Amino acid sequence: MKNCVVLALVVAGSLLQPFPLRAQQPQPFVRDPKVAIDEDYTKKIREYTTQPFFTSPLVDYLPASKTVPTPKAVLGDIAGAPGLLPYAEEVYQYMRMLEKASPRVKVYSIGRTEENREMIAVAVTSEANMARLQQNGERLAKLADPRVIAMDDGQAEKLMEGTVPVYYITGTIHSPETGSPTALMELAYRLAVDDHEYIRSIRNNLITLITPVVEVDGRDKMVDVYRWHLAHPGRNWQPLVYWGKYVAHDNNRDAMGVTLKLTENVLRAYMQWHPQVLHDLHESVPYLYDNTVGDGPYNAWIDPILADEWEMIGWHNVSEMTKFGMPGVFTHGNFDTWSPGYLMFIAALHNGISRLYETFGNAGADTVERTLSPNEYARTWYKQNPPLAKTVWSQRNNNNYQQTGLLTSLHYFAANGRLFLRNFYLKSKRSVLKARTEGPAAYVLPGDESRPGAQTELLRVLQKQGVEIVRATAEFTVTLPAKKSTPRPRTTDDGRDGQDRRDGQDRRDGQDRRDGQDGRDKPTTRTFPAGSYIVRMDQPYSRIADSLLDYQYWSPNDPQRTPYDDTGWTFPELFNVQAVRVLDATVLDAPAEKVSDVRAKGSVIAQSATMFLVNHNADVALVTLRYRFKDAAIDAAEEPFDAAGRKFGRGSFIVKNVSSADMQTAAADLGLQVTAVPLPPSVKTHPVRAARVALLHTWVTTQTEGWWRQAFDLAKVPFTYISTQDVAKNDNLNATFDVVIFPPVGRSTDVIVNGMPMWGNPLPWKKTGETPNLGSEDETDDMRPGLGWVGVAHLQDFVRRGGLLITVMDTADLAITAGLTPGVTIAPRQRLRIVGSVIRSKMVDATSPIAYGYTDNLAVWCDNGPIFNVSNVLGGRAGRRLGGDETTRPTGRGTADDPDVPQGRAGAEIPDEPRVEAWQAAPVTDEQLRNGINVIPPQARPRVVLRYADSRDLLVSGLVENGSEIAQHAAVVDATLDKGHVVAFSNNPIWRGETLGSYFLVFNAIMNFDALDAGRKVDEK
Ligand SMILES: [Zn+2]
Repeated sequence: MKNCVVLALVVAGSLLQPFPLRAQQPQPFVRDPKVAIDEDYTKKIREYTTQPFFTSPLVDYLPASKTVPTPKAVLGDIAGAPGLLPYAEEVYQYMRMLEKASPRVKVYSIGRTEENREMIAVAVTSEANMARLQQNGERLAKLADPRVIAMDDGQAEKLMEGTVPVYYITGTIHSPETGSPTALMELAYRLAVDDHEYIRSIRNNLITLITPVVEVDGRDKMVDVYRWHLAHPGRNWQPLVYWGKYVAHDNNRDAMGVTLKLTENVLRAYMQWHPQVLHDLHESVPYLYDNTVGDGPYNAWIDPILADEWEMIGWHNVSEMTKFGMPGVFTHGNFDTWSPGYLMFIAALHNGISRLYETFGNAGADTVERTLSPNEYARTWYKQNPPLAKTVWSQRNNNNYQQTGLLTSLHYFAANGRLFLRNFYLKSKRSVLKARTEGPAAYVLPGDESRPGAQTELLRVLQKQGVEIVRATAEFTVTLPAKKSTPRPRTTDDGRDGQDRRDGQDRRDGQDRRDGQDGRDKPTTRTFPAGSYIVRMDQPYSRIADSLLDYQYWSPNDPQRTPYDDTGWTFPELFNVQAVRVLDATVLDAPAEKVSDVRAKGSVIAQSATMFLVNHNADVALVTLRYRFKDAAIDAAEEPFDAAGRKFGRGSFIVKNVSSADMQTAAADLGLQVTAVPLPPSVKTHPVRAARVALLHTWVTTQTEGWWRQAFDLAKVPFTYISTQDVAKNDNLNATFDVVIFPPVGRSTDVIVNGMPMWGNPLPWKKTGETPNLGSEDETDDMRPGLGWVGVAHLQDFVRRGGLLITVMDTADLAITAGLTPGVTIAPRQRLRIVGSVIRSKMVDATSPIAYGYTDNLAVWCDNGPIFNVSNVLGGRAGRRLGGDETTRPTGRGTADDPDVPQGRAGAEIPDEPRVEAWQAAPVTDEQLRNGINVIPPQARPRVVLRYADSRDLLVSGLVENGSEIAQHAAVVDATLDKGHVVAFSNNPIWRGETLGSYFLVFNAIMNFDALDAGRKVDEK
C-alpha cells in the first residue's frame, strides 16, 4: 500500500515533464480499409505461403500503386515465388525502376567486386527526407565525430532535432542463402508506396538503406546453379564450390582484415552514411533467429550501451512477432558475440548497432517439406513458440519472416529515433573519451620497426577501418606500467611440461613478460623515435583499433563450450610487428602530424654500383621483388654478413643484372631499403628462384585455399591454379612446376583422395550457355572425382624428382599418411582445444632457408594442430621411447638422482640416456643401426624449422586448453623424399589476410625450393 503512494507521486511527477523520458511506445499495425490493395499480388502471397501462421498482417497483402511497379515487373511473379531466383542485375533493374517511379527511392553505386560486378545501396525515405538527405548526412557525420562540436551535449541535442537516423540492411552475403534479394525488393516497394500509418511512420522518421546483394559474384553463380537444377529435374546439382573470387562462407569473416571488395564497399558506405544500424540477413536457422542477443562471451571492446541496445531491439523483435503468432522466432541462441570478423560487426565497433537474422531458407526457391532436428524444434526458455518439427516450407514463407522482422524493427527504430541517435552520439563521444577513461591512451608502432612493410600493411588495415593515424615528428617518452610479479596461469595445464620457466620471451608489443624474478617490478619508461606511428584512442573509431591491436583471452572454463569462430586475432602479433599499448596519457601530447597515406619508405643507397643487397626481414615485398625481376640473378646469403657499414641477416638478397634505375623504381614502389655495392660480400650463397608455382585445389571446397590465392595475388607471386583432377591426369608435374602448394582443404584424406561419391549424375562446373557465371576460377566436366591414389602417386613422383610440395594441416596429414614425409608422424589429439588462436612458436633451426628473415618467438595462427612427431627411423614410435617418462628412475636405493645398485655383484656402467625434446628425433642407436633397414639416412631426416612454444608460453591470444599435448612439438617440418622435399605446416601460415607475419615461411620455401638443405647439420650416424 505504501508503495502505491510513492508510485503515484512518481507518475504525477513524470506527467509534469513536457517530454516523457521513456522510449516512445510504437503503435501496433492497424489495417486501413482506405489503403488500396494489389489484389492479384496479394492472392499470390497467400497462395505461396504454406500456413496462415507463416505470415503476418504486415506482409500478407501488397499495397497498390498506380505509378510504382511491383517486383512482378521484373520477376514476372511475386517476390518469394517458387522456382524464381533473380540475378543481381535483375534486382538492380527493379531497384532502378523504383527510383525512376518514386521520389522516395534513390539508388547508389557503392563499388565493384573482384569479378567486376556492381554493388548498390538503395535509400528509401519520405520526399521531405530525400530533399534534406545531404543536410541530414552532415548532421549525422557531426554526431559520429563529436570532436567537431567540441563534445558539446547541448549542441548534439540540437543536431538530433530534426535529424532522421539511417538503418542499413544487407542481403545475401552467403550465396546459398537465397531469399533476401526478393524480400528486399518487396520491402523497398512497401516502404515507398504503402500509406498505412505504420509504414508512413517508418518512411517519415527513418532512412532505410538497402544493399540487396552483398556477395554479387556468388549470387550470380548461385542463380546459375539453381536454374541448372530447374532445367535438369530429378538430377543432383552442383554444390556451390565458389562464391566470390577468393572465398565462400568466410566472406563474413573479413571485417577485421578488410581484404575483400564486398567488405571494403560496405564499410565505405557505412562511413559515408553513418547509419545507426547494420543489419545483415542470413538463412540457416528455423524460422527467425535474431542473433542480435545471441550468447556470451560478448566482444570485450564494445561500448556497454551497445549490449543494452542489442537486448532492447532483439527482445522487442521477438515480442512483436510472437504477438503475430509466428512460430520459431527467438533472439537468444548459440551465437557468441566475441569475434569482430562478421560484416555486421563493422557497426558494433564503429559506434553503431550490429544485427543479424538467421531465417530459414531452402537454398533456392523450391517449396519442400523440411524436417528439423530435435534441438531445433524443442521449446526452450527463450523459444516459447518453437518451429514445427515438420512442415512444407517455401521461399515466400522465408520472405514473410524476413520482411516482418525488418518492418517491426524499422518501426520500433523510427519511433525511438531520438533515443538511438542520442546513443549513437554518446557511443561516439565515449569512443573519443576512451583514451582518458578506460584507456589505453594509444598504441605506438615504433619508427624503428624492423619490418616496415608489415607495419605499413597493418596501419593500412586500420585506415580502411576509418582509424586516424599520426606520426611523431620528434622523439617522445612514455611510462609503461609495472609488470605483474606473479602472472596468472594462461592455460589449464600451465607449465606441466616441466620446462625452464625463466625462458621468457618478447611479446610483439615490446613489453617483455619475463617473470621478473625479483617479483617487484617498477614502472619503466620507453622512448620512441621520431617517425613512430601513434594510434590515438581519442578518436571516434578507437574501438576497432583497440580490438584489433589488443590481446584476447578466452578462458578454458568459459561456459560457452563451442566458440562460434576464432578466439584470438591480435594483429600486431600475427603481422609480426611491434605495437605498444600505452596507458600513459602524455602520449597524446607527443608532437605528431596526421598521415593520410602510410607508406614504407624505399630507397637505394649508393646508387652508382650495380650489385644490390636487400636485407631479409620477411616482409612480403621481398618475394614481390624476386618475381618482379624474374630474369635477374638473385642469391641468398646463407649466413649473416656486414657490408657497406650495415648488417644483413641470413637469407638476404644479393641482386645482379638489374639496372640502377629499375632497382630505384622497385625500391620506391615496394618500400624496400636497398644497398648498392661494387663487390659481392664474402659469404656462402645459393640462388633464390622465381619458382614455377602451382596452387592446388579440390572440387569439394575451396574456402580456405582462397585466402592463399588472394595472398599470392596481392604479393604479385604468379601461380597456376590446378585441381586435384589435373594432378590425377598429369604424370610429369615437374615439367611445368617447381613447387606444388596444397593449402588446407578442411576435409579428411579420404575425401581429398576419393572426392565426391561417383553414384548419381556428373556435376559440371563450367561456363556454358546455361551457366554463364560458372568457371571463372576453374572448370571441370564433373566435380565428383578427387585426387585419386594415382594423383597421390603423381605428387610422390613430383617430389622424388626434386619438386617441393607444401602441405598444411589436413593436406599435411594426407602427405604424412601417404608416406611422403619419412620420419614425420601425427599423434592423435586427445583433450587439446585450440580454437582459431594465436600461438607462440620457437625457432629450432634458424639456418633453414624457410626461417630466413625471422627472429625467434613468431606468433602463428593455429586451430588444433595437427600434432607432429619426428623420428630418424621409419615406423619408429615418434621421437620418444616407449616405457614412459625417462626422466624418472625406478624404485631402488639412494636419492631420486642416484643410480640403483643391484646387490651381490659388481657394478655395471649405465650408458647416458640423451635427453630428447618433443620436437626432436631421438638419436639413432647402435642397436637400430645393426641392421639399419629402417634408419633414415642422416641427410634425409626430417628437419624441424619451428616448434610450438613450451606449454606456459603457448597462448598468445584466444583459447588454449590442455596445450601440453601440442606444446614443444614441431610446427613446421621440412621432410626429404629422394631429391625433393615436403614441407608440412601444423599452423596455417596464410589465413584471412590476418597472418602477414607468417606468410614468408611459405615464400621462403618457394624461392629456395632447390636449396632447402642449405645450412643443414647432418647427424654423424
Ligand atoms: Zn549465413
